[in-house]
Amino acid sequence: MKIKHVEAIPLVRQLESVFQGGTYKITSRNTIVTRVELENGILGETFGGDEDQYQFDVCRVVNDIYRPLLVGSDIRDLEANWGRLWNTRVDLNNRGIHTLDLAKHCVLTQAIAAVDNASWDALGKYLNQPVYKLLGGYRECVPVLAIGGYVMAGKTLADLAGEIEYYKAHGIFGMKLKVGHLSVEEDIERTRLARKVGGPTFHLCTDSNQAWRTDEAMTFARGVLDLNLAWLEEPVRWYEQIEGNARLRSLGIPVTAGQGEISRHGCRDLIVRGAVDILNVDVTIAAGVTEWRRIAAMAHGFGVRMAHHEEPQIALHLLAGAPNGLLVEIFPNYQRDPMWFDLPEQQPAIKDGVMLLPDGPGFGMPLRQDTIEKWRAAF
Ligand SMILES: [Mg+2]
Repeated sequence: MKIKHVEAIPLVRQLESVFQGGTYKITSRNTIVTRVELENGILGETFGGDEDQYQFDVCRVVNDIYRPLLVGSDIRDLEANWGRLWNTRVDLNNRGIHTLDLAKHCVLTQAIAAVDNASWDALGKYLNQPVYKLLGGYRECVPVLAIGGYVMAGKTLADLAGEIEYYKAHGIFGMKLKVGHLSVEEDIERTRLARKVGGPTFHLCTDSNQAWRTDEAMTFARGVLDLNLAWLEEPVRWYEQIEGNARLRSLGIPVTAGQGEISRHGCRDLIVRGAVDILNVDVTIAAGVTEWRRIAAMAHGFGVRMAHHEEPQIALHLLAGAPNGLLVEIFPNYQRDPMWFDLPEQQPAIKDGVMLLPDGPGFGMPLRQDTIEKWRAAF
């Protein structure tokens, strides 16, 4: 069955509040809807990414460069189609500075991801199977984690406690607490509160988004050693990801990283150099489902488990299909992620700490066309 058309559509939506993490603030919820239409009329369609700086560039690469490479290809030849994109040299208008080179390559891997992810939805619909079944169907539900604990103007410790109570009341398995913006001492206090309110079985982890020097991260880790944290996520700055993470692991707390990696090659280095217990590679950044499952298989061989950075609409299937898959994460807060609530016609059910896999074909989450049209950006 041949591919007839490929299209990427950027959506841009300003948020009503500012959400402060360790090294960044979120003011808008951008995403890309990608469509892969087959000759028989089947439409693969999904959304992904939260990119603002390169969002339009990613869409241009899909529509101008990758579309003609894919039209006429068989949707079942996912590896061949992926390889054609990966091996096509694209003029990135680079000026020979290595860091710029890396930034531009993330445009390509996001563009490949957009096309590849929608292709898996199309293949699932063509075969009338959910994607997680095509990936191996290891489990029928996945524990669900809330991303929260943002620092916001006027937010108190009592507010944080209330936030955690809200998650528990809504069947959430655990929480990823944002740290790294305040002092290390304040973050230790916040984490202690989160454990106290969450209780001993609440799946609690922290994410500093690479905010700390290694010595600061070590101070934090020693201050929370008795709290049985599930993991420390990206505890150290970008230039200490290997050695710093390895030192933290020696304290006995698992370390998660990898959400910024754009391919299996960077993940390989994190694994073989002992920098991670868990990889949270993002399928919308690191070249799509086809590349993510390769990374998961590689990680499995080293005893490294897989989480996922946001994007539950696709991550749910990946984590259900991989034997070393851990849990899916969402923003249960409409103000932080209105697209998760407004784009799918229906969100997967959450019950007793787990998210249930939808049983429809593809990703099983048809999108609301009125939402797409409302937030479609001209570019
Ligand atoms: Mg993170």
